[in-house]
Amino acid sequence: MKKMVEGGCIAMAHNLDDCIGCFGCETACRETNRYSYDEGWMKVIRREPVLVDGKLRQYHLIAPSLDKCRACYDKDHDPLCVTGCPSGALTIGEFDDVVRMAKGQHTVIFTA
Ligand code: SF4
Ligand code: SF4
Repeated sequence: MKKMVEGGCIAMAHNLDDCIGCFGCETACRETNRYSYDEGWMKVIRREPVLVDGKLRQYHLIAPSLDKCRACYDKDHDPLCVTGCPSGALTIGEFDDVVRMAKGQHTVIFTA
């Protein structure tokens, strides 16, 4: 992904179809930033199973603290939450690039 000028608008995209709900990004964020256990800069939220087109699906959502991601991304453009995701469900980078990559995908985009 194209590198950006520090301080520009970033985004994180989470592909709901690719995410397998492994909680790896939550663990990676804590391992990277070593914050206390009463904080949670990245949370994975397991949803109830639902029927989609007659098939049972279970989606997971994420809740990143994008103000923290902003500083984290400035230090490392390839944070462990993204590089360690086993299914490639996370993307972080410049807002326009992330939106372009997420086009047509079942994706939630967070911005900061
Ligand atoms: S590491 Fe990837 S697959 Fe695992 S919960 Fe996070 S986004 Fe989903
Ligand atoms: S970009 Fe950094 S702060 Fe944001 S979720 Fe990933 S590891 Fe945590």
